[in-house]
Amino acid sequence: MDYPTRFDVLVIGGGHAGTEAALAAARMGCQTLLLTHNIETLGQMSCNPAIGGIGKSHLVREVDALGGAMAKATDLGGIQFRVLNSRKGPAVRATRAQADRVLYKAAIRELLENQPNLQIFQQAADDLLVTGDEVTGVVTQSGIRFHATSVVLTTGTFLGGQIHIGMQSYSGGRAGDPPAQSLASRLRELQLPVGRLKTGTPPRIDARSIDLSVMEAQPGDTPLPVMSFLGRAEQHPEQVSCYITYTNDRTHEIIRNNLDRSPMYSGVIEGIGPRYCPSIEDKIHRFADKNSHQVFVEPEGLNTHEIYPNGISTSLPFDVQLELVRSIKGMEKAHITRPGYAIEYDYFNPQGLYPSLETKVINNLFFAGQINGTTGYEEAAAQGLLAGTNAALRCQEKDSWCPRRDEAYLGVLVDDLITLGTSEPYRMFTSRAEYRLLLREDNADLRLTEKGRELGLVDDERWQHFCAKREAIELEKQRLKDTWIHPGTPASEQLSASLSQPLTREAALLDLLKRPELDYDDLASLAPGDLPEDQQVREQVQIQVKYAGYIDRQAGEIEKLRKQEAVPLPEHLDYTKVDGLSNEIINKLSHIQPTTLGQARRIPGVTPAAISMLMIHLKKRE
Ligand code: FAD
Repeated sequence: MDYPTRFDVLVIGGGHAGTEAALAAARMGCQTLLLTHNIETLGQMSCNPAIGGIGKSHLVREVDALGGAMAKATDLGGIQFRVLNSRKGPAVRATRAQADRVLYKAAIRELLENQPNLQIFQQAADDLLVTGDEVTGVVTQSGIRFHATSVVLTTGTFLGGQIHIGMQSYSGGRAGDPPAQSLASRLRELQLPVGRLKTGTPPRIDARSIDLSVMEAQPGDTPLPVMSFLGRAEQHPEQVSCYITYTNDRTHEIIRNNLDRSPMYSGVIEGIGPRYCPSIEDKIHRFADKNSHQVFVEPEGLNTHEIYPNGISTSLPFDVQLELVRSIKGMEKAHITRPGYAIEYDYFNPQGLYPSLETKVINNLFFAGQINGTTGYEEAAAQGLLAGTNAALRCQEKDSWCPRRDEAYLGVLVDDLITLGTSEPYRMFTSRAEYRLLLREDNADLRLTEKGRELGLVDDERWQHFCAKREAIELEKQRLKDTWIHPGTPASEQLSASLSQPLTREAALLDLLKRPELDYDDLASLAPGDLPEDQQVREQVQIQVKYAGYIDRQAGEIEKLRKQEAVPLPEHLDYTKVDGLSNEIINKLSHIQPTTLGQARRIPGVTPAAISMLMIHLKKRE
């Protein structure tokens, strides 16, 4: 049957990409349908229930700055919060939260169910409705045809999913969930560029069967960090510790002796796994000289005994899993509640996408999340938000939006994917961003919330909070600028203990704050007027003033590059007509069809000389 209501945006898949996509489109006023296998698994974390970490928290904060759900749900579900790299510079600082998977999922579901303009429907999508080169809707498993202007596909690891435990393998989207076989076959017919990747997960263990007292306890930070710009520590549920233990020679020997029973090493699995989140078999093989690896023992929730042993992801047979787990200190009597496994799945080469995440071959069809070759909840959520936004903009007949590399990690993520493609699961790192001093997790709202408001993604509450914060930062900087300290005065005496050199002439507090030995807290009370109460305002003032020199230099570099970066390249440009390009470069440019000169410049093998020839060609066309 044809479903009687026509939707603006239809999102397939209720994981991290799908939920953000659906929420974003609905916030922008589009009638949206979220079609997913199972309403009970909306926002489910397939692997470790942890959000954030290096590079990833930057994405979570950007999603939050644009009104998304992930940070809010983390504040409601997080049971251990830490700021990683807290002693390093602000560019690489990253908030990470261990979450209670049930509370997190419940928070996401509540946001979805209370979102105006959004309907949810439980059923598998088996086919896409395509007319000419345009998607027009979706057909479900029982034959219901939903019609929509744009479709966002966020099927995660489910397309053609094949689960492996030792030499046994079976079809599945992840443990306990069915795969999406019909849709996978249909997508293969549409001649989209498909490949296979794999990822894996460790066995889960009953905490009552292990001895935490012999492991290192790792409590969360005090004061308690928050993930969302609107978050408050009081929102967090009870906080608990994680623990650390180690693999040892015996563990490694067990693994080495059984590598022939590993589906990865016996050639059963062909898909490439995540380099930066390797299985324990991979680690033993690749780092053969190391005789110990850390294992983070992380709780899965407050009302469960299950723990997640982070660091021993494996697809070895169950008997080997049990033996290797029991060789680890404190786990000698461990009871495994769920075996670890690896999963292989279809992904689509993201070079087949525009910066909006729309596919190049089928109009109005957008892809987001693991389907684009990424790994991680945060990478998925960020893409979902972008795809949902652009799917909505398409319905509104407006231009698509994608932040530039100097505006957001989201811009870096999408540009890397569509320009370079990926042959292994892609995860975000701060090192991927060339302008990381500007793209900090602490200033994601200052970078993006205004744009989010313009797009219709940011509600009144967030907007008012943001405007008040932005104003408070400027007022506070002005207060510090206007306050001068004179040598020999009580204020100068008060500072003398902290100063490496005594004050010889008058100085503004703003300039004193640039000195490495002084912090905002040393100075702020010396200025007349009230100190801002908001900790985020104080932090921002400190960072903006202390790093002003570096920030300005980076902003200057960006300005220089921007002119070239933004030069648009015509759609379907015939690169064979550009004088002087080598065949190799013609092939690359024709295949990727970059949308700007900047994107063309980042394609591996495209030389500065080729860019000059392109510029001459564009000039001639004018
Ligand atoms: P998912 O979260 O997988 O969500 C997909 C959604 O689509 C599901 O709700 C599913 O039911 C629905 N769906 C699929 N097909 C259909 C259909 N035809 N019709 C309707 N609904 C459909 N990430 C890491 O960062 N580190 C790790 O170590 C790690 N290990 C992992 C181990 C395993 C075993 C798995 C399965 C994943 C792992 N991940 C890991 C990846 C992480 O889970 C994903 O990156 C993230 O969940 C991707 O989000 P997504 O929204 O793209 O897809």
